[in-house]
Amino acid sequence: MEVINLKICQDCADFQFSGDLSFLSLLDEETEVAREKEIIEGDNRLVSDGISITGLGDTEEFSIDQCESCLTKLAGKRVKAVAIKNKVD
Ligand SMILES: [Zn+2]
Repeated sequence: MEVINLKICQDCADFQFSGDLSFLSLLDEETEVAREKEIIEGDNRLVSDGISITGLGDTEEFSIDQCESCLTKLAGKRVKAVAIKNKVD
């Protein structure tokens, strides 16, 4: 097991924190469906890599770094996340 640091977008951070994606309903329907898919797939990818986010840290107000969960490259907030990675066979 190792501790790793990730940088994730605000949407993924909200989802990690609350397990809820209803905030996406503020978007138009097409974007909402697309983002929901990206965020859930990102979370599934982390899980299948044995990664679980255990804490959220500082927020960068503006960043163009890719979200390490949903992989979006859209500029915006990025939240530092601490995760543990378990070896997956
Ligand atoms: Zn994201």
